[in-house]
Amino acid sequence: MHSAYLDHAATTPMRAEAIAAMTEQLGQVGNASALHAAGRRVRRVVEESREAIAQALDARPSEIVFTAGGTEADNLAVKGLYWARRAATGATRVLLSAVEHHAVLDCAHWLADHQGAQVELLPVDEHGRVHPDTLRSAIERDPESVAMVSVMWANNEVGTVQPVKVLAAVAHDHGIPFHTDAVQAIGQLPVSFAGSGVDALTLSGHKAGGPMGVGALLLARGIDPVPVMHGGGQERDVRSGTLDAPALAGFAAAVTSAVAEQEEQAKRLTSLRDELIARVRAAVPDVVLNGDPDDRLPGNAHFSFPGCEGDALLMLLDAKGVECSTGSACSAGVAQPSHVLLAMGTGAAAARGSLRFTLGHTSTQADIDRLAEVIAPAVERASRAGLS
Ligand code: PLP
Repeated sequence: MHSAYLDHAATTPMRAEAIAAMTEQLGQVGNASALHAAGRRVRRVVEESREAIAQALDARPSEIVFTAGGTEADNLAVKGLYWARRAATGATRVLLSAVEHHAVLDCAHWLADHQGAQVELLPVDEHGRVHPDTLRSAIERDPESVAMVSVMWANNEVGTVQPVKVLAAVAHDHGIPFHTDAVQAIGQLPVSFAGSGVDALTLSGHKAGGPMGVGALLLARGIDPVPVMHGGGQERDVRSGTLDAPALAGFAAAVTSAVAEQEEQAKRLTSLRDELIARVRAAVPDVVLNGDPDDRLPGNAHFSFPGCEGDALLMLLDAKGVECSTGSACSAGVAQPSHVLLAMGTGAAAARGSLRFTLGHTSTQADIDRLAEVIAPAVERASRAGLS
């Protein structure tokens, strides 16, 4: 049985060049902060990785702060920028899109519970997009009180791409720092740090074909978040902790390849993804495609299956060799409807009957064929079981 891995937005297989770059370093000794020859060798690996990522994303090497993943980079951006601006100006409002990943959303809620922040979730349209006028009017209610704005580059559940450049310009009209979580965009969309005009941008290694547990926050010149991690003063004192040189070598190799192949992959994945959507629609006529029909991540297809429980459908598909995701959180064994779909105006029942299929660099026609073969009987069984 061909197994179809359709969950690249959760994590994508490591690229061969990333495995090679990482394993080459794993057998070497040295701490990048040490002054001896072994330390200097590792420092060179770290700095070359930094330069490679900077070049791929149109940033300066000095703008890159390495972290242990996307979640940590989001924490540093949201908490660090809030603390810095509150100290400098007294501003305490944090504006976020209602469809952010929990790594951004929960930081802001924590700031509200413990650090005096007022969190405002910017509403989105039925496709999950924040309109620049929505941000503008939220800011203009009291511009001086806004500490920071965060809107993701592209949504991890429904794939909708945000007008990040325009949103950043709206924030900048009032001198407010703007952060974007670009974890899902790398390798799927063209990403230029300089060209986007954002002040802070989150990356994650394992979404680009690099290792897990490594990421980065890109910070424009003059943007100095208060550190979340304290210790040895690495990464210009913004993020302490011994740098994981082998992981950074793998991360840099992955980002370099993902960006070099982006245009070609985007074409290939868009065509596979459109076929996936057409074949699911043919097999399940009442299925609803969520997210922007056109301006979405090339590898993302997200559907609601009326009358089905998403978890049940996921397990039925898994038994047939198709691996996908519900995208919604499960706490204490109870499936919660996705906050992204609810913010888009999807009803709770439809939200619970939703599944995400995501393609990446190893996806093939055989994956689509497998899904097309098994989707109709799986939906039929799940809808017979109904909603719990
Ligand atoms: N931000 C987005 C949009 C994501 O999709 C993810 C991963 O699911 C993260 C942040 C977290 O990144 P990491 O797994 O590297 O902590």
